Amino acid sequence: MSDSLEDLRCQAAAFTTERDWDQFHSPKNLSMALIAEAAELVEHFQWLTQAQSRDLPGDKKEAVGQELADILIYLVRLADTLDIDLIHAAHAKMKLNALRYPAAKVRGSAKRAAELNDS
Ligand SMILES: [Mg+2]
Repeated sequence: MSDSLEDLRCQAAAFTTERDWDQFHSPKNLSMALIAEAAELVEHFQWLTQAQSRDLPGDKKEAVGQELADILIYLVRLADTLDIDLIHAAHAKMKLNALRYPAAKVRGSAKRAAELNDS
């Protein structure tokens, strides 16, 4: 089995259909589930220093990986239910990001695009 996002989309769709869960997988519910999983991810980093967040112990890193997987699965399911090509959308957004944040202008800065235009 390859590791493509398309394979994951097919696997998640089959998993859902086998359980008759399509009835619950509306874009509204999937987007809410996605945010709930993102909150579970954040809990692992809450109160850590930046250095600690970069050097997670093995068990914590495994747990973080599981939350990232949950997020990815819900993201793929959400895009699938909306018939959005996630890879295409992400590449298109990267092009927009490159225009909004030209490297020569933002290198080393954490300012947001709106702040860049003010300066
Ligand atoms: Mg989770």
